[in-house]
Amino acid sequence: MSNVRVRIAPSPTGFLHIGTARTALFNWLFARQHGGAFILRIEDTDTQRSTDEFDHAIGDGLAWLGIDWDEGPDFAGVGAKGEFGPYRQSLRADIHRGEAQRLLDEGKAYKCFASREELDALGHNRKWRDATPEQVEAMGEAPYAIRFKVPEGVTVIDDLIQGTVRIENKEIDDFVIVKPNGDPIFHLAVVVDDGLMKISHVIRGDDHLSNTPRHVMLFEALGYAVPQFAHLPMVLTEGGKKMSKRDHGANLLDWRTEGYLPEAVLNYIAFLGWNPGDDRELFTRDELVEAFRLERVNKSGARFGLKRIQFLNGQHIRRLSAEDLRARLVAVLEEAGFDTSSKSEAWLTQLAEICREKIPTLNDIVRQADFFFVEPAEYEEKAVKKQWEKDDALERMRLIRETMESVDPWTHDALKAAYEAVAGAREMGLGKLVHPTRLALTGKSVGPGLFELAELLGKETCLARMDRG
Ligand code: GLU
Repeated sequence: MSNVRVRIAPSPTGFLHIGTARTALFNWLFARQHGGAFILRIEDTDTQRSTDEFDHAIGDGLAWLGIDWDEGPDFAGVGAKGEFGPYRQSLRADIHRGEAQRLLDEGKAYKCFASREELDALGHNRKWRDATPEQVEAMGEAPYAIRFKVPEGVTVIDDLIQGTVRIENKEIDDFVIVKPNGDPIFHLAVVVDDGLMKISHVIRGDDHLSNTPRHVMLFEALGYAVPQFAHLPMVLTEGGKKMSKRDHGANLLDWRTEGYLPEAVLNYIAFLGWNPGDDRELFTRDELVEAFRLERVNKSGARFGLKRIQFLNGQHIRRLSAEDLRARLVAVLEEAGFDTSSKSEAWLTQLAEICREKIPTLNDIVRQADFFFVEPAEYEEKAVKKQWEKDDALERMRLIRETMESVDPWTHDALKAAYEAVAGAREMGLGKLVHPTRLALTGKSVGPGLFELAELLGKETCLARMDRG
């Protein structure tokens, strides 16, 4: 077992943000490639906003991507690993308070009795830092915050992505680590948890870089090993703004709803701030574990690109085995209200094959294949004008029906041969026969290849739809 121990510490905000999923992925890849541990720790210190439902959104999102975590206290069924829930920061508050007490005992923190009004009026001053034991004693039971005594000197962070950051400690106020009501502050909780969990690398969003000097000072004061830091660039919208909750695509699981493959989304988010340094674009999860390098993560914001995620989705759909694709498409069709139970597996697999190239997302199967399950309710107006309202249209439809009738066996190849023979004999383009047929069979002007879909529909249905057309 290596010493690499990393974590993702999401605040439970109701859904898994794509940026958080990216941070989780980079941590997970780093852990897996080093044979280390990946920990999920829900940072639910803001207890009002924390519910199990929110934990589920995070666990569900990670499970969908296939990101598993390694340890945690027993905690009923969240996410991929039912037997292990994540750590919950709120359940560790006593530990955090205990460590704050230790800092008090060691003279590295102090009780600050300044009132809210005083602080508002004067700002923080060091009055209580230098108070005598008698002055403290005199306050009796009065409520106090615990403040960290920022030491003199400079704090240097050698960030694996951002480079060296130096900060003069005197620029940082003695900050609160425990509130007067006893609640530990984020800075204390995160450092105590990282320290006691022996986190080796803190890989998180660069919105936390400004917190890091405080964290380093706390690590040192508490006598923990200081982890390596790696601050990841923010995920930006296509327009270059920070991606907020309301932006399309910010909610990871919306991609599932929209018919994207987890394989494609994983591949996509791996490239939010990282690339392999060559022209490879398609990666499986295992290939990412091999190829990912934390040092190759760039500093500048990672822009979201809809075209790219769509492209990757199409590519990953093409890579699925026919059976796998069938299973995923059946789920979508069922969800959309189509009954697939009367069809054989072989038939459904064939359906998946003939639609594979035509569906940028799984959801597109509904548009591509609805006519297999229900009669076309209407015919595309434009196509009707073009295909059925020409002078010789009716004649051609009759000709097609006759041709169909004679086809035996009812296969793609036999259909194709028959259509070609008729078109050749009449010296007309194949399209003059194919397009009107398609309209009658599907109600549409585009879709899977005609002879393939006709074979799957079956002769009887095709003839009936020709009559109706
Ligand atoms: N809870 C913080 C967040 O969601 C993460 C803090 C950290 O990773 O250290 O941004």
